[in-house]
Amino acid sequence: MGTQRLWAGLVLLASTLGALTAQASLYWNHGVRGSTPSVCFVGNALTARPARVQQVLDYIHDFERAANIRFNYLGTCPAPIVLSNGDDWHGGDIRVVIPGTSVPFTGMVPGNGCPMFLDGNGVYTGENNGWGSWSNPPDELTQNRACRYNLKLGDDADASGVPWRDHTLHEFGHALGLSHEHARDDVDYGLCTASGYGGGASSGHMTPYDRYSVMHYEFLSCGIHGNYGHAGLSTWDQLGLHILYPEPVRVAEMVGRTVIRTTEPLNLTSAWGARGATLSVVASGFSWKLSGITYSASSGFSTWLGAGTYPLQFSHSDFLGRTYSYSGTVKVLSPADYAKQIVTPVAARTLLL
Ligand SMILES: [Zn+2]
Repeated sequence: MGTQRLWAGLVLLASTLGALTAQASLYWNHGVRGSTPSVCFVGNALTARPARVQQVLDYIHDFERAANIRFNYLGTCPAPIVLSNGDDWHGGDIRVVIPGTSVPFTGMVPGNGCPMFLDGNGVYTGENNGWGSWSNPPDELTQNRACRYNLKLGDDADASGVPWRDHTLHEFGHALGLSHEHARDDVDYGLCTASGYGGGASSGHMTPYDRYSVMHYEFLSCGIHGNYGHAGLSTWDQLGLHILYPEPVRVAEMVGRTVIRTTEPLNLTSAWGARGATLSVVASGFSWKLSGITYSASSGFSTWLGAGTYPLQFSHSDFLGRTYSYSGTVKVLSPADYAKQIVTPVAARTLLL
């Protein structure tokens, strides 16, 4: 098993050589997909292994509650279109191969013109002969359209034979643009000094290092189970994905009350920051305005205000060049008005209940 897991990492690395250097929440620096990526299974997976197919679909629902990702499930991957140059063109953005179907799980990736695991002379390197799982990153979708599959998912299972939820999430996490958490250059050497731990990605750190990420490998000697678990996406996995896949109308999310008394300060801050994001990496250009006047250019601010209603504008950018904004109002009331307008109506309604 240990060898197999190591091999998975090697294969993943091999599959991305020649592209950008690999960098959970660790952004891979390999782009993001559209918000409705299509998913399909190659060969006869749906009839040969219907329970496993359904399990994978159930597992990956975790992504849909964390972020603006809605998988477009196609069932069996469609037959390829043959292009004028003879190359295959496979529909389906995330084309999954699982063991025990009509498509061989090891060896050359099928597909006329598929460039994966070929050397400079077009000869298969043998690098896909293992059983380790891997996935292409988002930005290799086009270059590997000729390949029958671009995500290879093994059945790695717990002692009772149930395939690990987090192993499935790990491979789809790669497909959505996350990289190996344990490879970051800011891992916790107080926690672990095992071989293969740390020493890698120096950028893309969307959150602090997260030993609970599904994008983490298992380091049992350090008490880290990594992707060999059933806990699902960690809190910071969810946050990283939420940042990578925003809603189509990008709202600058904030935390704080906007109806306050004159006897308390207004306290507003970025919700990404409040959830633990590393804002120096993922966000920039913060702007907080009240009545058109800039109050802060940082991720949060606190200020005292006199009674009144203030138009609020909050905006920032993210590290992928997207902008976010929110417009609302801040209402500041004297304690007497606050009691009359806010407290009393609520109290009255409580009595009616
Ligand atoms: Zn991996």
